[in-house]
Amino acid sequence: MTLPTADCRAAPGEFAPRVDRARCEGKAACVPACPYGVFSVGTMADADFHALPLFARLKVWAHGKQTAFTPNADACRACGRCVAACPEKAISLERVRPA
Ligand code: SF4
Repeated sequence: MTLPTADCRAAPGEFAPRVDRARCEGKAACVPACPYGVFSVGTMADADFHALPLFARLKVWAHGKQTAFTPNADACRACGRCVAACPEKAISLERVRPA
């Protein structure tokens, strides 16, 4: 886990990372990048897998259906490290609560 720094400015729960399931290849770069332990990587649920477009399903299947989850999204401080760390550009930050 990376230690938090001054670039983590948002209040917890103000922003949350969103993982694009069609892009994520489960490489887990986000897990060590996040100072607050927001991410885990596991197997995509069948319903999410079947909701993907065909090409994305093939890509996800080729990577063992591994994908990033955000079990601790409420802890996000919007530092952006996960966005920068993801080699597939699968993560974006969304405001989930007004400042
Ligand atoms: S922006 Fe990403 S790395 Fe930073 S706290 Fe939020 S989830 Fe963790």
